Amino acid sequence: MRKPSFKAPKDWDRRWLMLAELMASYSKDPSTKVGAVAVRDRRVLSTGFNGMPTGVVDSSFRLNDRDVRLSMTVHAEMNVINFAARNGVSLMGSDLFIFPLAPCSNCASSIIQAGVRRVIVYDYVIPQRWQQSFDTAAEMFSESGVALLRLPEKEEKEPEEDVSNIGSKIPPSLRDISA
Ligand SMILES: [Zn+2]
Repeated sequence: MRKPSFKAPKDWDRRWLMLAELMASYSKDPSTKVGAVAVRDRRVLSTGFNGMPTGVVDSSFRLNDRDVRLSMTVHAEMNVINFAARNGVSLMGSDLFIFPLAPCSNCASSIIQAGVRRVIVYDYVIPQRWQQSFDTAAEMFSESGVALLRLPEKEEKEPEEDVSNIGSKIPPSLRDISA
């Protein structure tokens, strides 16, 4: 039987970031592909990637002209919020996972207003032209009590358990039972 071609990370935050990465791959944007997933209690509430609004023609002219593209594109985070609204799903108290960029200040406004509790991203270097918007977003999150987590890309290896000296972990009260 066919098995998944990748190994799931142990950490749930990284699992959801992996799903956000998959969503990013659906974007037709030629320069920046972003994906986002809103989660609560380990269940997906809404997903999104950046692109033109539904029905708006994503012709190669529009996609390849930067100004036109930026003026029409809905960011992944906004699509998560919009589709949750369309389906009548509340994002109150949810976690928002975004790949590969942290949110801009516009999206931060709506993320805060939607009631998102935590925003989780990888700790990638931010492209210079977005830096100011990201800094503003980080400031807004901090003031409004939304946690912004920046995870290092590589999962830290769990330390191997040292079994050579396991006896010392047994409380003295139990150690003497067999004696
Ligand atoms: Zn944005």
